[in-house]
Amino acid sequence: MASSRPDSRQPRPKVSGRVAGIAVLACFVAGCVPGVPVPLSPGGGVVTSQLEGADRVAVAISASTQLSARGAVPVVYLVAANPDSEAAAAAPAAALEGGAILHAGATALAPAVATELARLAPDRVEIVGGTSTIGKAVVGQVSSLLGEGASVERIAGRTAPETAALLSAGLFAPSAPIAFVASADAYFDALVAASAAANVKAPLLLVTRDTLPSSTAAELRRLSPDRLIVVGGKSAVSEAVLAGLRTVVPVVEQISGSDRYSTAAAVATKLFAGAESVLATAGTADLGALAAIPLVAGVAPDGTPLLLTQPGEQLPVATRDALMALEPAFICIAGPLPPLIRGELIGYSDGRLGLPVETATYPALDSGWHEPGELYTVIKATEIAYPSLVSVFSIGKSAEGRDIWAAKISDNVSIDEDEPEVLVDALHHAAEHLGVEQALYLLNTLTSGYATDKEIRRLVDSREIWIIFAVNPDGWVYDISGGEYHWWRKSRQHNFNNPNLGVDLNRNYSYMWGCCGGSDSRVWAWNYRGPEPFSAPETRAVANFVAGRVVNGEQQIKTHVTLHSHGEMVLYPMSYTLQRLPSDMDPTDYSVFQAMARKMAATNGYKAQQSSQQYPTDGDEIDWMYATYRIFSFTFELYPTEEQAGKGIVYPSDDVIARQTARNRSALLYLIDAAACPYAAIGKAAQYCAAVAASPSG
Ligand code: CA
Ligand code: CA
Ligand code: ZN
Repeated sequence: MASSRPDSRQPRPKVSGRVAGIAVLACFVAGCVPGVPVPLSPGGGVVTSQLEGADRVAVAISASTQLSARGAVPVVYLVAANPDSEAAAAAPAAALEGGAILHAGATALAPAVATELARLAPDRVEIVGGTSTIGKAVVGQVSSLLGEGASVERIAGRTAPETAALLSAGLFAPSAPIAFVASADAYFDALVAASAAANVKAPLLLVTRDTLPSSTAAELRRLSPDRLIVVGGKSAVSEAVLAGLRTVVPVVEQISGSDRYSTAAAVATKLFAGAESVLATAGTADLGALAAIPLVAGVAPDGTPLLLTQPGEQLPVATRDALMALEPAFICIAGPLPPLIRGELIGYSDGRLGLPVETATYPALDSGWHEPGELYTVIKATEIAYPSLVSVFSIGKSAEGRDIWAAKISDNVSIDEDEPEVLVDALHHAAEHLGVEQALYLLNTLTSGYATDKEIRRLVDSREIWIIFAVNPDGWVYDISGGEYHWWRKSRQHNFNNPNLGVDLNRNYSYMWGCCGGSDSRVWAWNYRGPEPFSAPETRAVANFVAGRVVNGEQQIKTHVTLHSHGEMVLYPMSYTLQRLPSDMDPTDYSVFQAMARKMAATNGYKAQQSSQQYPTDGDEIDWMYATYRIFSFTFELYPTEEQAGKGIVYPSDDVIARQTARNRSALLYLIDAAACPYAAIGKAAQYCAAVAASPSG
């Protein structure tokens, strides 16, 4: 987009042309991370810079500090500590003048703000808003901080639109190519509009939902822009106001989405399609976004549009789509955002995220469950947020060609260190959704707790933990397809010469496959074991992965749990027989299984028992794990109990997720710890694990 004619008070020459722009962009990025020079790396991934600060006041100081690293800051706009649309209108003005925005309290400056203002020593301070917003005492304080000849002015109308009109009138020349309008009552729309306006050196004017203030109309007549862009939908700016604007400016365009996130995304993609950098910040409270706008605006040649994040662990869909469309090479993050949100911002920017989106979704009431299409996004964002601790990979493809996603968690994650290994897997059975949440809970616990929790850090540093999040992605997708539940259990593999689909994946392992009536040979049966052992690509993928953990002849995985639901049970081998000690179960190992299961059950309130006591199953995973590799392998049957399930809780509501996954924290950490020497559970570490027993940390 073209920029407006520079006002005579504008101190900075306009940078034009792509080469010059890129050079300036490099300065901007380097300047956005104090003291850390960041080289431009085309195609080498996204460069992220962070405006640090505990709150918006501190983030604003961080922005002004970085702005001043480029040269003298001629003017500071002081806005309310709790900024509204009136304050937002100051951002295009500050950007045009190369000025900074700082926040002031109603009666005083925060000490850090006073210090920063004195350090900046601007020629001019503009106080935005009336005395009820920033009082006279602040004016006196500011004056005392500035040098001889510096001026302190107040820009205040009776209303926010009047103040915005005054800001525009004082700075922006007539015959402007473009001007922006937003509602004074929709702060984030105004913020998005302020960002867009600042990027193209245009003013921001304000209306209310139902009125076009005369001051706004008069200023628009003076500006006489070729093009007027209204940011926000009909609920923010009414048809009547739009019609009024059209009587003043011939060309009025409205850009909006269904919410603030999609409005920001629409502005970014419609007006800044070529942008190579974005400003990202929280969309629920201003964490410093307003003050960041003058720092980033107008520096990159194609603009630095603003995108918004929401609470939780995922980006709004609109923000994600905008990042995929823009593929920015640079992100400036204003204010503290959660690590997973940062990871996703970066991942969508550099193409590490953005696989074809799986469209199966949970029924609307259960939207708290992670969708199949969100799984990869969440685990990959975790890898991006914790690159030294998490490595995401696929163990293979399902029958319908979906990746079976897994992650390794350990210190020095890229190196195969000589550390005891643990495997956790989930969702052999399609309808058992809570297992995926449990696996994600573990990933989150091990990463988010690493910096602060000594026990988590010890385990992550001394173990290699593998998580397979959904062994049966096809069944999962089918089970929730169409936004309703299908009571599905098996995979979705085609069976030879038979219309019934799928195999019970937990009857398809090779050990004692089909031996003992613990599975069914009939294709339509709910526990169909398949035509032969490992006929399913999903179980083959698990088996191949586990086989791959044999290093120098020794299986590295020592403990394992497979997550199922329901029953609230901790189960251990053998599954195929009711005998406690068949010839293939070592008596000592059996006592270890019992002891470990009881320890875990004591922490989560589950029932510990041999798997076959529930009902005998053959060809299942835990028998195969133990019999093939002597892995101490367990099944967790998660919430709810059989009795609760009998009353109808087969598909629990999403409000159980947090409590029912946190419930297994101790049991899972114990299983991870126990990988060093499962025999410690029966006090026989010295006998079975000499090296561990000798080590004080073992
Ligand atoms: Ca390690
Ligand atoms: Ca290893
Ligand atoms: Zn199951």
